[in-house]
Amino acid sequence: MDKRKVDVAIIGAGTAGLTAYTAARKHTENVVLIEGEAYGTTCARVGCMPSKLLIAAADSAHGAARADMFGVAVAGISINGQRVLERVRRERDTFVGSVLASMGTIPESHRLMGRARFLAPGKLAVGDAWEVTAQRIVIATGASPHVPAMFQGLGDRLLTTDNLFELETLPASIAVFGAGAVGLELGQALSRLGVHVRLFGLDGILGGIFDAEIRDYAERCFSEAFYLDIRSEVSDLSPADNAVAITFTHRDKGEISETFERILVATGRPPNLEALDLHHSGLTLDDDGIPVTDSATLQCGDSPVFLVGDANGQLAVLHEAAQEGRIAGDNAGRYPGVQPAVRQVPLSIVFSHPQIASVGLPVGRMSDEERKAYAVATVSFEDQGRSKVMGENRGLLKVYARRDNGVFVGAEMVGPAAEHIGHLLAWAAQSRMPVSAMLAMPFYHPVVEEGVRTALKDLHSNLARLPAPEDQCLECGPGV
Ligand SMILES: Cc1cc2nc3c(=O)[nH]c(=O)nc-3n(C[C@H](O)[C@H](O)[C@H](O)COP(=O)(O)OP(=O)(O)OC[C@H]3O[C@@H](n4cnc5c(N)ncnc54)[C@H](O)[C@@H]3O)c2cc1C
Repeated sequence: MDKRKVDVAIIGAGTAGLTAYTAARKHTENVVLIEGEAYGTTCARVGCMPSKLLIAAADSAHGAARADMFGVAVAGISINGQRVLERVRRERDTFVGSVLASMGTIPESHRLMGRARFLAPGKLAVGDAWEVTAQRIVIATGASPHVPAMFQGLGDRLLTTDNLFELETLPASIAVFGAGAVGLELGQALSRLGVHVRLFGLDGILGGIFDAEIRDYAERCFSEAFYLDIRSEVSDLSPADNAVAITFTHRDKGEISETFERILVATGRPPNLEALDLHHSGLTLDDDGIPVTDSATLQCGDSPVFLVGDANGQLAVLHEAAQEGRIAGDNAGRYPGVQPAVRQVPLSIVFSHPQIASVGLPVGRMSDEERKAYAVATVSFEDQGRSKVMGENRGLLKVYARRDNGVFVGAEMVGPAAEHIGHLLAWAAQSRMPVSAMLAMPFYHPVVEEGVRTALKDLHSNLARLPAPEDQCLECGPGV
């Protein structure tokens, strides 16, 4: 093995690893970025971007199918699955291409290709070729789809997000397992693209929604569009000719058997830590085998090792991976002068229809006792003016503020334009805006955000323990 000594070694050239590299390099040129599989990042290759491309095609099909409600007849809608997937891959490849181009700006001497594993604290093997001694290490190895044992042996009928987008054409039918963000987005998109979809969830999980009332509302909305059971009971799953036979308890029909051309398993993405031989790292692991990590510094205990992105199992979304990479790269670069960073307000979005957004403190997940410190207001989008104009008036939003000082702390919603409203509310929460200050901001008319203002007005009244004002505000325009 060739030997190499570096100040900082970063394991994984995904989003978190790349931002860690950029941050660490501001402190030292003796840095190495190690990648075990392929450059391009999970987000661009098999994650955010191809999934949103599939959803864009699905939206287009859905728009054509519902045009009739506006008096617009679209005759003979036909979905060409091959062309849908060709466009997904073509556009996806341009996103991957731009990541690869930026990899080209990293000097050769800073890159190593090969799987990294710990030989001892501060010592890594990279494939069979290199032994790297690193003063500081950033672990940014991402996460991979989890395939439970019941799905083994299904051969190429089994799909995960790693190979879904490589299909030549859309299947006629698919059983999607897992109703988290990924399963919900893809299940609904495939359904809108004419695929017969059954979505089997577990334990009542739906799109990461914390609040039971919002989750139940969302479940009703999605169930109107395609078969969804978030507490599914599947008694048998076995290969049958070129398909998979599934026996399950149907929500209305009792136990039935159906065959599906494909199965998509979206039952979670555990961190890629196993291959790292962490037992040689000297790190303290929690009960799940994940190094104990401080979320403000990303440091593992008091060691010179940092754990970031999907690999730490904390907040598995892209902007958090980028933020964590930056914090950890900076801290690894300046170690031992590690500094805590102020983390951004949590924000997550599910690109379903209606969309889901969760912002700030997860009050919806708190106990009744904990919730007492917060005032809450709820608004429905069913009568909201702009939402009705667009025929998208399904939705529920809850907003929360601290009772002691009236500061806005978070929200959860399913409904129209949630990706935009989620940002607006996350920025307000991060700015620690009092609800009264948010209400002093301009709201154009007619926009979906007027529904947010209605919720904030109620929240303001609830904080002051005043009677709620009239929902209709005639001077503001109709349907606000
Ligand atoms: C279908 C899907 C849709 C998604 N949609 C969204 C979305 O809309 N918005 C959003 O914010 N997030 C979304 N995500 C999540 C987002 O993609 C991830 O949070 C983000 O890509 C994580 O980045 P990362 O750097 O932690 O990991 P990655 O980008 O996965 O990088 C990890 C890298 O480490 C390498 N590696 C692993 N082990 C080793 C080793 N031992 N040695 C060397 N290298 C190693 C891997 O090959 C990989 O290149 C989605 C994910 C999926 C799967």
